Amino acid sequence: MMVPTAGRKGNSGGFFAIVGALLVLAGLLLVPTHAFALDAHDFKMAGDATHTRIVANFDKEPEPRWFMLRGPHRLVIDLPKTRFAIDPKELKASGLVTNVRYGDLSGQASRLILEAKGPFLIDRLEIMKNEKAPGYRLVADLSASSQQAFDDALAEQAATTGSTEATPKSERLGLRTGREGQRFTVVIDAGHGGVDGGAAGPSGTAEKDITLTFATELRDKLKADGRYSVFMTRDKDEFLRLDDRVRIAREHDADLFISIHADTIRLKGIRGATVYTVSEKASDADAQALADRENLSDQLAGIVVEEENHEVADILVDLIKRETHSFSIRFARKLVGELSPTIGLINNPHRFAGFKVLKAPDVPSVLLELGYLSNVKDEEQLMSAEWRDKAATSIARAIEMFATSTDNAGG
Ligand code: ZN
Repeated sequence: MMVPTAGRKGNSGGFFAIVGALLVLAGLLLVPTHAFALDAHDFKMAGDATHTRIVANFDKEPEPRWFMLRGPHRLVIDLPKTRFAIDPKELKASGLVTNVRYGDLSGQASRLILEAKGPFLIDRLEIMKNEKAPGYRLVADLSASSQQAFDDALAEQAATTGSTEATPKSERLGLRTGREGQRFTVVIDAGHGGVDGGAAGPSGTAEKDITLTFATELRDKLKADGRYSVFMTRDKDEFLRLDDRVRIAREHDADLFISIHADTIRLKGIRGATVYTVSEKASDADAQALADRENLSDQLAGIVVEEENHEVADILVDLIKRETHSFSIRFARKLVGELSPTIGLINNPHRFAGFKVLKAPDVPSVLLELGYLSNVKDEEQLMSAEWRDKAATSIARAIEMFATSTDNAGG
């Protein structure tokens, strides 16, 4: 490898020496007055509107200072003067993050600013040494939160003067805060909407209209009770991503999330209401098929859903283990108990499957199928104001039992 080629390249040595000298000269001319202390590269964001992971790679160990800002909700990361080599494609809005900016700060330092869709918590912000490549990476995990939790984290940040001690502090920032004085909060989700019409009944009833009508009536009933704070994910005919529905529940620090649906099923004879909770494994094939259809909602609306990354999949597994899940099941049972004497239920009316819309880790969540639009009688009932009122009254009773039981405190 040495002798023969060296011989053949006889006079190329001189040529390379000249090129080399020119490159050195060009390099000297291009070096700025303040050299870069860091190189940042391979910036990536993944996740959805409830959980987003941000990763940035550095050639050397960065020692960032970071803090949160409101109006709009932002995470600011300050670094020594950094040369950013970031693919503009990676800066597109993603998950919770709507906008990424970076640049020079006073000639001596650099700043990276991530703007969020709404209030958030920093679950983690860590610097790690790359195992398989040279350099270090910064990993930040953000999750959608309530305004109160965001404000509390801001207050805590002010108290601790936004230090660089990311790991222990991020744990404190991630804690949910007390919710004294807050009324029991229900977020009602009218399934589908906008371009996503959902199922359609034999006489042309669109699921998205039924769900909105019912959700609005249920909201009014709960508000009239006076003991609850009640919010809707949508109150008009508009499209909402599934993860945005979950984010809204978290933003309101909901104690309960109820997603309202009225789908169709192959067997036209099947009728009655069903209550669903989230699960990794579906209770039966029909529940699985329903969850698959509901989870397609984003694609139906033409949104390219990014490949679910491992972190997001892990979150689903994780939340099933949490206490929240047992509260979801507890409410589902109460709901079945209240609905069964007043409106018809299908056999085994509490079922479960991997619904994306039920994955808020800290909000007990159920999906209620009021009935099947594929069944003529069910469609008739869903169109009846009297029937809907009966159903809403039963749901309100189940909520009351859940809200007043002593052991339901989520946060
Ligand atoms: Zn539906």
